[in-house]
Amino acid sequence: MTEPETTASGPQPDDTRTADRYDVVIAGASLAGCAAAILLARRGVRVALLERRSDPEAYKVLCTHAITACAYPVLDELGLVPALEKAGAVRNEARWYTRWGWIEPKAAPGGPELPYAYNVRRSTLDPLIRSHAARTPGVELLLGHKVTGLLQEGGRTAGVRVTTPGGGERELRARLVVGADGKDSAVAGYAGIPVRRHENARFGYLAHYRNLPLPGGVGQAWFLEPDMAYSFPNDDGVTVLAVLPDKKHLPAFREDLEGSFEAFVRALPEAPPIDSAERVSKIIGTVDYPLLTREPTAPGIALVGDAALTGDPLWGVGCGWALQTAHWLAGAVAPAAAGRGDLDRSLAAYARTHRRRLRPHQQLAADFARSRPFNPVERLMFAAAARDEGAARHMYLFASRLIGPLGFLNPVAVAKAAAVNLRHRFSPAGRPARPAGSPG
Ligand SMILES: Cc1cc2nc3c(=O)[nH]c(=O)nc-3n(C[C@H](O)[C@H](O)[C@H](O)COP(=O)(O)OP(=O)(O)OC[C@H]3O[C@@H](n4cnc5c(N)ncnc54)[C@H](O)[C@@H]3O)c2cc1C
Repeated sequence: MTEPETTASGPQPDDTRTADRYDVVIAGASLAGCAAAILLARRGVRVALLERRSDPEAYKVLCTHAITACAYPVLDELGLVPALEKAGAVRNEARWYTRWGWIEPKAAPGGPELPYAYNVRRSTLDPLIRSHAARTPGVELLLGHKVTGLLQEGGRTAGVRVTTPGGGERELRARLVVGADGKDSAVAGYAGIPVRRHENARFGYLAHYRNLPLPGGVGQAWFLEPDMAYSFPNDDGVTVLAVLPDKKHLPAFREDLEGSFEAFVRALPEAPPIDSAERVSKIIGTVDYPLLTREPTAPGIALVGDAALTGDPLWGVGCGWALQTAHWLAGAVAPAAAGRGDLDRSLAAYARTHRRRLRPHQQLAADFARSRPFNPVERLMFAAAARDEGAARHMYLFASRLIGPLGFLNPVAVAKAAAVNLRHRFSPAGRPARPAGSPG
C-alpha cells in the first residue's frame, strides 16, 4: 500500500522511537485542532497535528452541524468561507416554536442582515478543514497517530507519547501540548485536569433526510418544555432532524426507536413532512451526554473545543466554540509558543478569555439541561420574542452566541420584554391563538 496514513507537509518520520521537536503538538485533527494548527502556524509556530484516525476524510458522525454566527469571523480568517459556500453550506436562519407562537428573527427594516454562519454536514466540513490544515506551511498533519501519554519535564508537560500507524511508538517534544481531542480528552486525563460534570436530563436522536422541506427553507427548533426538537437544511439538499426528549421517555422510546422517533416528529407543531421524505441515514443518538467543564490550561497544556468545555448539543454551539477557542488560543500564545515570550503568562490570558466568554453560557445551559419548563425569566424573554421583532432579534444574537447571558438579560432588554408582554396583555387584538396540540 502507498502511504495514505499521513498527509504531512514535511518529510515522513520513521516509525522508531525518536524524540521530534515542535513548538506545539496538537492532539486531535477535528474542528478545534485543525483551526488551532492553521492559526498558530500562520503566526510562525511549528505545529505537529496528531489524529488517531487514519482516514483523511474521517468526520464526527454524532453532530447536527449548525455552526453559530459567532464563529463566522473565524471561518473567514481561516479562509474557509468560499469553499463552504461552494460546497453548498446553507447560511443559517431559524425560527423557534414556543407556547406563545413562533419566534421568527428577521433583519430590521433598512438595517443590516442578521449575522449568520453555516449549516454544513461534518462529512463536508471536517475533511475540508483538515485538508486546509495539511496544506498550511508549518503544520505537519500526522494521521493514525494516537496520543497515549504525556512527557513531563521539570513539573510541566513537555510533549506527548504516541502510537503510530505502523504500530510503533514515538515521542514528540514541544513547548505546548494542545488537547483538541474532544469531550473524553485523553490529554486532560493524562494531565490529571479535573472535570466538572452536569447531568443532562435529555437524550437525543438524529437522522438525515432528503426531500424534507422546512417552512421558509430555514431551520426550525421546537421548545416543548421540557422536550426539544430541531431541524436544519444542509448542503447537498440534506436536512438534519433531531429530537431531544426528557429521559423519562427513554425506556418507552427505545422499545421501538424508529416508530418513537417518527411519532415524536409527526406530533410537532408544523411538523416536517417525514412521510413524504427519504431518510438517508440511520437514526443515531446518545442517551447520556453530560455537560463537561475543565480548566482550559495547565503547565505546558492548553485545551480547546470540547476538551475544555462540552456543551449541551441542544444549543448547537460546540462547533462554533471549537473554532473560537482555537482562535483565542492562537491569539494569546503564538509568540510565546514560538519561543518569543512568557508561555505561562500567555496561557493564563487564554484561560481568562475562555472562562469569561464561555462559563456563563455553560452555567445557563447546565440549568436548562435539567429538563425543566421555562423559568420566569425565560418565559418573559421567549414570550416577548414571539410577539416583538426587536425582542426576536435580541434572542437571535444570544442564540448565535454573539452576546452572553449578561448581555441577553441586561436590564434594558428585560424591561423592554416586560413592556412587550404588558402591551400584549392589554391588547386583545395582538393575542395570537394558541395552536392546537401545543404544550401547556
Ligand atoms: C448529538 C450532538 C449534536 C451536536 N450538534 C451540534 C450542532 O448542531 N452544532 C454545533 O456547533 N455543535 C454540535 N455538537 C457539538 C459538536 O459536535 C462538538 O462540540 C464539536 O465536534 C467539538 O469539536 P472538537 O474539535 O473540539 O472535538 P471533536 O470533533 O470531538 O474531535 C476530537 C478529535 O480528536 C481525536 N482524538 C481523540 N483522542 C485522540 C488521541 N488520544 N490522539 C489523537 N487524536 C485523538 C478524535 O479522533 C477527533 O478527531 C453536537 C454534539 C452532539 C453529541
